Order: sequence, then C-alpha cells, then structure tokens
Amino acid sequence: MDRVFRQGDMVQHFKRETVDQTTKKYLYRIIGEAIDSETRERVMVYQALYDDCGTFVRPYEMFMSEVDHEKYPDIKQKYRFETVNDRYRPDVKKTMESLRKNGFDVTYFDTAEEAAEYLDRSIDGKSIGFGDSVTLSDMKAYERLSSHNEVRDPKQGICEDDFQRLAREALTAEVFITSVNGLAETGEMVNIDGTGNRIAGSLYGHKSVYFVAGINKIMPNLETAVHRARNIAGPMDAKKYGTPPCTKGEMHCYDCNSPDRICNAEIHYLKKMNHLEHSEVILIGEQLGY
Ligand code: SF4
Repeated sequence: MDRVFRQGDMVQHFKRETVDQTTKKYLYRIIGEAIDSETRERVMVYQALYDDCGTFVRPYEMFMSEVDHEKYPDIKQKYRFETVNDRYRPDVKKTMESLRKNGFDVTYFDTAEEAAEYLDRSIDGKSIGFGDSVTLSDMKAYERLSSHNEVRDPKQGICEDDFQRLAREALTAEVFITSVNGLAETGEMVNIDGTGNRIAGSLYGHKSVYFVAGINKIMPNLETAVHRARNIAGPMDAKKYGTPPCTKGEMHCYDCNSPDRICNAEIHYLKKMNHLEHSEVILIGEQLGY
C-alpha cells in the first residue's frame, strides 16, 4: 500500500534513532504537500517539534524515499521519514508541570491498578458520574468504586434508554470522572464527543472532576493532541458504534456526515474551570483507552 502522510501527522527522520529519545530531536509535524510555483516540483512541507520549530520543505520523492542503508548501515528505520503518531515517548514530567501551571492537580501512577486504588481511597460515600470511558473500564473503576459509592455509569446501561438515563444522572453527581482523547505536554487536554454527556459533565455542575489518562494520550503540543483525538481516538471509538468511513480501510478522520458520527463536539481544556473545588488529572504510565 502507498504510504500517505496527512496534515498533522507526527513523523520522525531516521536520524532520530541516533539521539536521546527523551528529546524531540528529528520529530516533525506534517503541514501538507505543495507545488513549487517556479519548477512545478511536488514538495512536502513540515515543521520541526524541537529547537526553534522551523518549517521546512523537501522534494516529495526524497521525503518518501528509503534510507540509504549502505551509507547508514546501523539505521533500522526503512524510510527517510515514518509516522510515529501513536508510538511517541512523552515527557511525563513536563506534562505534569504544565498541567499544574494550568491549575490542575496532578498525580502519577505507574499502573492502572495503583491509580484505581488511589481513586478508591480518595472517593468514599459520594455520588459519582462516569463519562463513558474505555480507560475507566480498563481500570475496572466501576467495580471498585460502586462498592462504597453510588456510581452512575452510562456503560452499565443495557439498552439505549438506560444509557441516556445513566448519562443524565451522571451529570448531577457530586464527583465526575472521565478520560481525555489527547493531552498536550504544554498542559492542555482535548476531548471529542458524539452524545455530549462526557464533555458536559467535565465542565460544570460537580464539586470535583477527575481526568484519568494513560501516557498514550500525551502528545507534544495542543495541535498534535487535537490531531490524535481526531485521527486515532475518533476512529477507534467509532468502531463501537457504527460504520462511519474511518472504521473501514485506513484509520484517520474523514470529517464525515455519517449518522453514526461520534465526533460532534470537540473541547479544548485550557485551564481548570473556575467553579470547580477540585480538578485533578491522574496520569498512568500504561497504554489505556483511546
Ligand atoms: S468525524 Fe466521522 S470519520 Fe471522522 S473520526 Fe468522527 S466518525 Fe470517524
């Protein structure tokens, strides 16, 4: 299959294999293709995610070419540039610092089990609303918390009416817990939603809101976090509900008009909301949810 790069894709140059992986050296974001007005040559336009974030163009054929493995025998990467959309190694420390600057409390746990224990200890005798979240299911949060709290989790609904009733009831709980689809190292978070219950509950009406996220959600900045939400989380989530175009063939967003579209709203959390007594991000060093 032909390789395709789309606007917003994160790519790495093969020389990234030779540098410290905790830096962003040789990581780039695709801006798009262009035509040189003088030569009519097809070029790729891309922006560095390191140093001064300079913007570059390179002939399309060269951008898509394979690594010269005779010249670089130690390089394992096949092509000069390859996508790394979902295998980015995030800077967790920077992410936590940035979130704190934006007003959120932040805690980190190596495992989902430890994070679930923390939630179990922290919330007792409360009404809790869940925002339909695969991460919370992965953590078995409902099973743990419902033994000593009143948990309203739309996922427990066995039919559409049940889902809607539980989603509404979740909005009036004392505590709301949800996840995010993208989390920027610069401290912003992104969620997409088809029904709206998840976004609505995360913004207003509760004393306390928790955002629980695996490190697979972390991206270098808001732009790449949005890209992740639209092109990774969206298509993966869409598979559960229907057959919009992103569920067939290549996984990316087609900005569809499908009746099964699950991306009807997109929220960017820039800072902690004013009214909230407590807003906490629980980061987990595992791959969880979408
Ligand atoms: S807008 Fe449509 S194509 Fe794009 S991720 Fe959502 S459901 Fe899929």
